Amino acid sequence: MQLESEPGVLWSEEPSWQDARHAAKIERIARQLRHRTRTRPVSFKKKTPPHQVPKRSDQRRNDEKIDLSDLDQILEIDPVARTCTVEPAVTFDEVVRATLRYGLVPIIVPEHKTITLGGSVAGCSIESMSFRYGGFHDTCLEYELITARGDVLHCSPDQHPLIFQMIHGSFGTLGVLSKLRFRLVPASPYVHVRNETYETLEAFQQAIWRHFSSEGADYLDGQIFSPTKHVLCVGRFVERAPYVSRYDWLKAYCESIPRLSEDYLRTYDYLFRYDRGVTHVFPRSPVGRALFGKLVHSDSVLRAADRFHRFLPKKNPSVIVDLFVPFSRTAEFMDWYHREMHFYPVWCVPYRRMWDYEWLTPRWWAGVNDPLFLDLAIYGLKQQSDRNLYKEFEDELLQVNGTKTLISYNYYDEQTFWSIWNKDSYQAVKQLTDPNNIFRDLYTKTCRAALGLPTQTAAAGASLH
Ligand SMILES: Cc1cc2nc3c(=O)[nH]c(=O)nc-3n(C[C@H](O)[C@H](O)[C@H](O)COP(=O)(O)OP(=O)(O)OC[C@H]3O[C@@H](n4cnc5c(N)ncnc54)[C@H](O)[C@@H]3O)c2cc1C
Repeated sequence: MQLESEPGVLWSEEPSWQDARHAAKIERIARQLRHRTRTRPVSFKKKTPPHQVPKRSDQRRNDEKIDLSDLDQILEIDPVARTCTVEPAVTFDEVVRATLRYGLVPIIVPEHKTITLGGSVAGCSIESMSFRYGGFHDTCLEYELITARGDVLHCSPDQHPLIFQMIHGSFGTLGVLSKLRFRLVPASPYVHVRNETYETLEAFQQAIWRHFSSEGADYLDGQIFSPTKHVLCVGRFVERAPYVSRYDWLKAYCESIPRLSEDYLRTYDYLFRYDRGVTHVFPRSPVGRALFGKLVHSDSVLRAADRFHRFLPKKNPSVIVDLFVPFSRTAEFMDWYHREMHFYPVWCVPYRRMWDYEWLTPRWWAGVNDPLFLDLAIYGLKQQSDRNLYKEFEDELLQVNGTKTLISYNYYDEQTFWSIWNKDSYQAVKQLTDPNNIFRDLYTKTCRAALGLPTQTAAAGASLH
């Protein structure tokens, strides 16, 4: 018997039908890759907008495209094993709605509803359970990958282990992720949030360390509002709530943080509490909210930015960036930040060092003694014409042995880039999954093509040899 409960959710007692449908989609993509004749680089398109910082001159728009739109099925939810198997273009909104029916949720749920599972593995993914579990990719058990030659690989910690590890943060340059299985955790119907306010960064970090070292909290994130105001949002699952707050129209969750000492949200609403904005929500005026509040959210803004990219700024785009700073170097970094940037609020997500990821260099890991990082996220810092703040952030991160996600503007030169990102591991996988470099390499895609700059080496494909 086949059940279809919600759009995009199919689980069948006859896996053959499901597998056949999935296999047909894979064969379509593999055939496109095997028989392609064009020489333009290859990248992906899907129904949902890319959740990368939109860039005016992004060359990827002119690529040959592989359409992932129909890889949008939830293939299986196993409430006993607490796992879920999906195709990559499924969104977190769809998965959370489906798994909550079983009292389960994904461990890491990035805050924008239309971020896809595949994009969060190939790109980046953090949220308020990261202090326990790292990134979404750290909760994944296996991947199905289509290589540039149209071969289909099954990857896990035991099968093709290096490929399995390197897919994360590869930004679509190591193959097409076509299926993934990941872990789920039990969830109560509500989340009780306590907002703990600290005057000093030191006290704020001590509180983070307390929660990191103990079992009590389910969720942990915070915001830095000034050098003397730090709020830590400690979330715990609860079965009952005396009231629940909604932040999908006139009110915005991020604006409640400095005002409320506690709050109760439905678990679904908690997971997407920042869908309209992490630190700033527009429109700000009550009239503007009343009229457009329900229409303006991450999906609509990113869709418009992608569509009307010709109107994006040519120079000095506002800064949207996620920075990873070793826990013990935070004070040093924030001293610099208060002095040089002084833009608030800064979103703060503690991130557990799960192990020394293969996609970063051993030399970089040797500079980190901490079991914990702080992800510091800045959304909307305006740039003056005489400074490149993205570059200043990159330079300061080198001072504190930090790194950043590659979703925004990246100005690393190639040597510095590969002193952080592990070229040896990357190349070893690239040779297997894309030896002719049809997907571009990681540096070229995220630091050159994204900014509309030419590939640095003479011929595409040469840079890795
Ligand atoms: C304003 C803003 C706020 C953000 N906030 C957060 C946050 O709080 N937490 C967080 O975790 N992330 C955040 N992100 C980052 C976002 O989650 C990542 O950029 C994520 O990778 C986007 O996923 P996506 O599904 O939109 O995929 P895209 O943006 O479409 O893809 C991301 C990369 O993955 C590649 N890719 C996509 N699908 C596949 C596939 N099936 N196989 C191989 N490669 C693939 C693409 O080529 C691309 O290089 C934010 C981004 C923006 C712009």
